[in-house]
Amino acid sequence: MSSTWVVGETNADGSLAKISTELATLARNLADAGGPTPVGVVVGADPGRAATELAAYLPRVVAVAAPDAADHAWAAVAGDRVAALVGADGPGYVLVSASPDGRDLGGTVAGLLGWGVLGNAIAVTWADEGPSVEMSVFGGRLLTTSALNGGRGVITVRPNAAAAAAAAAPGVVETAAPPTGTLPAVRIVERVAEAEAIAPIDEARVVIAGGRGVGGPEGFGIVEELAKALGGVVGASRAAVDAGWISYAHQVGQTGKIVKPQLYVALGISGAIQHKVGMQTAETIIAVNRDPEAPIVEFADVVVVGDLFEFVPALLDALKARRGG
Ligand SMILES: Cc1cc2nc3c(=O)[nH]c(=O)nc-3n(C[C@H](O)[C@H](O)[C@H](O)COP(=O)(O)OP(=O)(O)OC[C@H]3O[C@@H](n4cnc5c(N)ncnc54)[C@H](O)[C@@H]3O)c2cc1C
Repeated sequence: MSSTWVVGETNADGSLAKISTELATLARNLADAGGPTPVGVVVGADPGRAATELAAYLPRVVAVAAPDAADHAWAAVAGDRVAALVGADGPGYVLVSASPDGRDLGGTVAGLLGWGVLGNAIAVTWADEGPSVEMSVFGGRLLTTSALNGGRGVITVRPNAAAAAAAAAPGVVETAAPPTGTLPAVRIVERVAEAEAIAPIDEARVVIAGGRGVGGPEGFGIVEELAKALGGVVGASRAAVDAGWISYAHQVGQTGKIVKPQLYVALGISGAIQHKVGMQTAETIIAVNRDPEAPIVEFADVVVVGDLFEFVPALLDALKARRGG
């Protein structure tokens, strides 16, 4: 029986990235539905911590020590190691995150093994002897469902495709030193911090999002204030991003981030389908909209029909009063 490999990504401090816990759960779900045995692999200068964390989700994890990527892309050091390990196992599937590093790695592994790639999956299920992969394509205009030929392939997966859940019992961690080839080491010549670094919106427990209804860049002031008061991060509709009122990093939806917070507050957002697919799995959705017939009214848990510029300041005052000024 072949395997479904989950390539673990690490944070700067060596811990496991949240997306990798989701991919591991996804691989286990595939196995539960009749798919291949899930196996994890972590490649890095010091892979032990992330490998142990990944083993909370998978029965077996392989830790591969590799030189620090330093000023090279991670795929340049991880790519041929992952390809050698996975290729030696025979046909199978490789799940990597659809992050910039994950996409680099997915392409590298697919190229080295001569396997196909399905990119940017928003859902993966097991069907008819292979993974059924749902993707948002053509800039979000279409949702497609695809399969891989030959029982093998690489799938890059977007955040929140599965809710992470640890396995009943932790798995084992092994080490391996697969042979390495001579990949061209693509050098990173410069790292530029985003002018406006934000907390990762797809990991936030509270998202306060603004749309065209906030009326302009200054309208996001009130959105930020509410986000601060509720310990959340600021999201936005594409209309607000396209208008240049806020950066793309905040965009929620089919061509932005898919979020799954406990609370999503939509301020002046109509709830178009392309926005809805990015936030519909939030636990509680509160919409503030002056149009009682806006599409968001259909799927929000709580709807405030009114002007956001009247409602939000009143809410902020009430929050302040409750916290004793
Ligand atoms: C291929 C494609 C991909 C797309 N991807 C995305 C995506 O990733 N994310 C996304 O968001 N959109 C996306 N869109 C765009 C999407 O179709 C909508 O155009 C967009 O979501 C609308 O943004 P909005 O709700 O802010 O604006 P509008 O639809 O203009 O809605 C504004 C809302 O604000 C309300 N309002 C106005 N003033 C106030 C006020 N003072 N108080 C309270 N309410 C007020 C109005 O009643 C209205 O409901 C995509 C479209 C296409 C074609």
